Amino acid sequence: MKYKRLLLKLSGESLMGDSEFGIYSNRLTQYAEEVKEVVNMGGQLAIVIGGGNIFRGFSRRIRENTINRIEGDYMGMLATVINGIAFQSYLEKLGICTHIQTAIRMDQIAEPFGKKKAIYHLEKGRVVIFVAGTGNPYFTTDTAAVLRAIEIKADVLLKGTRVDGIYTTDPEKNKYAKKLNNISFDMAYQMKIKVMDQTAFILGNENNLPIIIFNINKRGNLQKLISGEKIGTLVSKK
Ligand code: UDP
Repeated sequence: MKYKRLLLKLSGESLMGDSEFGIYSNRLTQYAEEVKEVVNMGGQLAIVIGGGNIFRGFSRRIRENTINRIEGDYMGMLATVINGIAFQSYLEKLGICTHIQTAIRMDQIAEPFGKKKAIYHLEKGRVVIFVAGTGNPYFTTDTAAVLRAIEIKADVLLKGTRVDGIYTTDPEKNKYAKKLNNISFDMAYQMKIKVMDQTAFILGNENNLPIIIFNINKRGNLQKLISGEKIGTLVSKK
């Protein structure tokens, strides 16, 4: 196994499948099955979950200024809690012991975030889902993913997306777009890549955390990645 401790970032939008919002049950079942395979292989898996599938409708209100940015961001963070609870249910249905840790205290629902406790759970073969992002407005769950990955000393951050990796240009618009297998953080930053936010790349670079952008919707990709197969695009310090 190439990577032992992994941080998987799942965006809210990846949970909604082809629907316009909400949670698509088949998708969560598929992700839960893949997580189970990783755990059975001995992988220590923590997950940061996004909220875009629930939050998207509100973001327009923020742009229009009907909802203030800061309040809107808290709504976004709460959306990640809903997704986290949903995903926990799917994982536990498959017999995977799962703990939710939250950056905003809500004791009845989740443990408060604690790095030591999170590592303890992972070493026991439990999955940890980090919700509520960083707990601060003006951030994203991509940045939260990098932060948590550094805190729990993950070997790699896996960013699951709907595309196969980073391309030279938008593959949906240009048929000559080429997939890049490896790029440096500096390059990712210069290219203004949209698949992950820039703050996340900067934090990853400063702390030497490799990030792999890959297609989470292709069954088996997660397992292949932790076994060391070269899938997606690796962003690292060169
Ligand atoms: N958010 C925030 N601080 C954080 C993480 C998230 O304010 O540390 C808010 C922000 O409004 C964001 C929303 O929660 O747009 C949902 O998170 P994100 O957009 O990262 O979710 P994803 O795109 O991964 O579904």
